[in-house]
Amino acid sequence: MTDLNRRKFSKLLGTGAVAIPLASLVNSLPSHAAAPMVDPEAANAKALMYMVESDQEGKTCSNCALYQAAGDESGGCPLFSGSSVAAGAWCSAYAPKA
Ligand code: SF4
Repeated sequence: MTDLNRRKFSKLLGTGAVAIPLASLVNSLPSHAAAPMVDPEAANAKALMYMVESDQEGKTCSNCALYQAAGDESGGCPLFSGSSVAAGAWCSAYAPKA
């Protein structure tokens, strides 16, 4: 094996050794679907006037630009990190999808 081949081989081994543990770590992370629903009584939810069922005509989390769908019923929102918002919910930070 030449020096160049040995270096390439070592580089490939190193990449694989890092990629496999990262892949298993990513697969073990909880998804937004598994995150608990936002508590409408929580201070940040109240501050944003979050409501589980939107009373705003045609405006729901599911058609908000910040919504990160994780299923039919709920998804993530960067304003409520670590929690899920209901697809039919709404808050005062609503921004329509472009
Ligand atoms: Fe829903 Fe408000 Fe988040 Fe938009 S910003 S997804 S309306 S909680």
